[in-house]
Amino acid sequence: MQRVAILGSTGSIGRSSLDVISRFKDRFKVACLSTNSNVGLLARQVKRFRPEAIAIGGGRIGDDKGKWGKLRVYEGNEGLCQMLRDTKVDTVIVGIVGSSALLPILTALDNAKRIALANKEALVMAGDIIMKKAAKNNVKILPVDSEHSAIFQCMAKSDGAEINCIYLTGSGGPFLHTPKNMFKAISPKKAVNHPRWNMGRKISVDSATMMNKGLEVIEAHHLFGVDIDRIKVLIHPEAAMHSMVEFVDGSILAHMGLCDMRMPIQYALTYPSRSISPVKGLNLSELKTIHFYSPDMKKFPCLEIAYGAAKKGKTYPCVLNSSNEVAVEEFLKGHIKFTDIPRIVKKVLGLHKNTRYAKLKDILEADKWAREKTRELIGVVTS
Ligand code: MG
Repeated sequence: MQRVAILGSTGSIGRSSLDVISRFKDRFKVACLSTNSNVGLLARQVKRFRPEAIAIGGGRIGDDKGKWGKLRVYEGNEGLCQMLRDTKVDTVIVGIVGSSALLPILTALDNAKRIALANKEALVMAGDIIMKKAAKNNVKILPVDSEHSAIFQCMAKSDGAEINCIYLTGSGGPFLHTPKNMFKAISPKKAVNHPRWNMGRKISVDSATMMNKGLEVIEAHHLFGVDIDRIKVLIHPEAAMHSMVEFVDGSILAHMGLCDMRMPIQYALTYPSRSISPVKGLNLSELKTIHFYSPDMKKFPCLEIAYGAAKKGKTYPCVLNSSNEVAVEEFLKGHIKFTDIPRIVKKVLGLHKNTRYAKLKDILEADKWAREKTRELIGVVTS
């Protein structure tokens, strides 16, 4: 019996994870659940899956603490980390969005054997630290991000030396065919409406700006130890191929399937074996044609900005990510325009001076600096 903690159990990844787990009652036991703010759904999940401990976002527990009975209840990000220290878990599914996953991931690396990682931001910020710690503690990090699960499966036992390049595919998001001069008028509502994948708001905006692909390039670099120059983004609107790997002998292996996150989640849980899943195979004769083309970096400058930060390395990817998080937040609130997101992130990166990059402290400092600088440029009054 694998004991599983699901961080972010009420989000899109969390709900799909519970759906997968509910089909393997003899293999997985839910030990911990967590939510940032959706306490109502968490209560229903607790009733159904009977975890031993839960964590709720800071200030959101409410007055009625008695309603949880004997369940151990933790609060805030530090509480979430403490829950992982106090509970015996084998696998931690990280479905938390954004940089707040960084400390829980580092804690999980000390307390679990396997991490099913759906979060990309933490790897972008501190990939070297995370991968080093995983190797030292002998913890397996299994990617849940669909492209990275695909790459992981194509790579199988090959190492970096056998690989020519990785083709990271992207559907192009909702504005692939929108003329550039209409980008200024893109509303948050339109930006979160993704044509292929049903996801949370932050990642949907990232997909619309294509920052998501940029973050995924950096994610792949850390997960697979492949140079940034050898990770190429390919636009593939049908989203039938979830990524490809080209080997030194000229072979290209691709992973194909429907767009259903239960597939990569289940593979991360059952790896190295495969099990029956409710996800159907792709109907290839219905698909008929598939297209691939290079991304338009002028139309989607976030991708170019991300490559630039990735090549500079050190604290630049962290600044890229933190600045983007703040800009997306402000865009969703209606404070800035869609086209302001790349403009502001680029400006913040230009102002950043890399100091040191050795310890977690340096990353946390860069993160704080980037957030403050981004808010300052946007003109948000912070008290
Ligand atoms: Mg992805």
